[in-house]
Amino acid sequence: MNWLLNLPLLIWRGVVAWFDPPYRTVVTQDILPPKLKKRTLYIVEDDGYQEQAAMLCPCGCGRVLHMNLLPDERPCWQVTRHKNGTSSLYPSVWRKKDCESHFWFKKGKVQWCRDRRAPPTEPRDT
Ligand SMILES: [Zn+2]
Repeated sequence: MNWLLNLPLLIWRGVVAWFDPPYRTVVTQDILPPKLKKRTLYIVEDDGYQEQAAMLCPCGCGRVLHMNLLPDERPCWQVTRHKNGTSSLYPSVWRKKDCESHFWFKKGKVQWCRDRRAPPTEPRDT
């Protein structure tokens, strides 16, 4: 196999990753920091339990999105940590007011849902 043929593709992927790095995951104890950083998913832990996830809305509106992680409260999200330091959220995140952002958060990447008013559907697994 001639790996040189794949070189342009590898370089292209590197360039894309450079301009669109995945969100970092930061675990905090008990409370969120007063100011959240962009492109960061925060997981708030209390006594070893994951209580909530939070992030700045990826649409750029500046609002903070809070996702409950406690299974006995609704709505509830599941967060999955990956070996490369990124995280995924399940199900999708949907703001039903203001900017109406609706997206899946997979491996640190935001995958927008095309029709924000349509019911959530599973994205293709890439
Ligand atoms: Zn927004």
